[in-house]
Amino acid sequence: SRDRRHLLLPGLLAINDRVGWISEGALAYLCRRLTVPPAEAYGVATFSPLFSVRPRPATVLRVCTDLVCTAAGASGLCTAVEERLGNGVHLERSPCLGLCERAPAALVTKAGDPVRTAVSAPATVEGAVLAARAPDSAPEEPPAETAVPQTGQDGLLLLSRVGAVDPSSLDDYRAHGGYTALRRAFALGPAGVARAVLASGPAGQGGAFFPTGRVWQAAASPPDHRPYLVCNAGESAPGAFRDRVLMEGDPFALVEAMTIAAYAIGAHRGFLCLRDAFPRATSRMRHAVEQARTRGLLGDDVLGRGYAFDIEIRRGAGAYVCGEETALFNSIEGHRGEPHCQPLSPAEQGLFGRPTAVHDVETLVGVLPILALGAPAYAATGTEKSIGTQLFCVSGSVERPGVYELPSGATPAELLSAAGVRENLRAVLLGGATGGFVRPDELDVPFAFEGRAGSGVVMAFDDTVPLPRLLLRIAEFFRDESCGRCVPCRVGTVRQEEALRRIVERAGAAAADDIALLRDVGRAMRDASMCGLGQNAWNAVESAVDRLGVYG
Ligand code: SF4
Repeated sequence: SRDRRHLLLPGLLAINDRVGWISEGALAYLCRRLTVPPAEAYGVATFSPLFSVRPRPATVLRVCTDLVCTAAGASGLCTAVEERLGNGVHLERSPCLGLCERAPAALVTKAGDPVRTAVSAPATVEGAVLAARAPDSAPEEPPAETAVPQTGQDGLLLLSRVGAVDPSSLDDYRAHGGYTALRRAFALGPAGVARAVLASGPAGQGGAFFPTGRVWQAAASPPDHRPYLVCNAGESAPGAFRDRVLMEGDPFALVEAMTIAAYAIGAHRGFLCLRDAFPRATSRMRHAVEQARTRGLLGDDVLGRGYAFDIEIRRGAGAYVCGEETALFNSIEGHRGEPHCQPLSPAEQGLFGRPTAVHDVETLVGVLPILALGAPAYAATGTEKSIGTQLFCVSGSVERPGVYELPSGATPAELLSAAGVRENLRAVLLGGATGGFVRPDELDVPFAFEGRAGSGVVMAFDDTVPLPRLLLRIAEFFRDESCGRCVPCRVGTVRQEEALRRIVERAGAAAADDIALLRDVGRAMRDASMCGLGQNAWNAVESAVDRLGVYG
């Protein structure tokens, strides 16, 4: 059963795609086939927000009600759409769909026809109703490129091909410099690749600011441990959509980058974990992986160099906490996607107990220019302290929301100016829901290097946006997404939400004891929660209270 348990989540997704919900009979059948105890499979099926163990209509209209979509009127949209939809469509108020550049965003899924997933963007009442009711002919998503402005600057390293290359053509990718980096990697050898990435400075940083090259050196030894590579493309943090844009616009780059990372650590199998809410990124990555296989760029003999590597694409089921490494491993292995205490780093003991290098899409794709240009030339692309570039997802009160690539060391003011910030700016949330608010007069401080961990998410809010309502939405998000495993987070996120709801119900007036309670609960979550979700659940609220003086 250990061997087949990892098929539990793919099995549940297959049932959900086909029928739209997970019935008792279907779950029992899956458990028999995989020899997984039914209670445990039920635990997995009820953990994910994507699944329902109760009957629901085959068509589900998911309307994003997260920060930027709420600011753009998602609540009103839900109410209006609800009145118009019949019984045949299930309306779901969804956490962030990763489509923040076209807020308010909506996504339609139809059981039995999962490929025909449609997005109306930005969603209107009419568009959402039409997409939900369309039998088979759901409207196509608009091309990502139209929603993703480039900065127009020279020296784009990560977005250089997005919008310029045909994402379905391997030949076009090669014509745009594709696979130069992999050839150089083979020339350097595994240890040389890790050294080159290490020498590249800040751009070679992986999760938790640990240098990517160091992760690779650790995962690569000892050599008989058969390490794994995991690309975490789950990207379910509110306001984050850069990984989606990279995968939609330049999918072969990720295939090449994963091959290089796997080569550096000696892995022969890689997992690409994608979000269910990214249907187009998923189909483009599937196509890219198949093309690479048929052209000898994945498989038993990559580029004829005798090196074997292949990529398995795994769809996730929408749990934000699965962005945490140990939770992601649990989810792939067929358990509930809950974090667990892990004394060793993933590079020592990760997926299936083996050494594992786990990176997001930006980190992996960022390795390509390092190798293609060579570490010394790459280092010359920035200043001594700020090498390379960084991607930012900009949404909210700006004229041109999208993904921007700016030299490392840029300031929020430069970024927002490129995105066309509106004059009546009230606050900017840096680093997404786990980050903090700053005032318009605080935008000239360069993004801290550590800000990379904040996922480069920048949301601007003008003075028409009700901030107390927004803070409540942040609290709802953390309460929903807390896996409930440890008390400070399980209880703290509920208490935080209750206090913020009381304040909203009093039209934004906060009693002193509400603020005192929020501080107490916030400190307890920060100090005693097991993973980053609970530890950071109070950041945005604290900054709004202290820096913005949001409650007067
Ligand atoms: Fe789960 Fe929250 Fe504890 Fe993380 S901090 S393990 S999300 S309960």
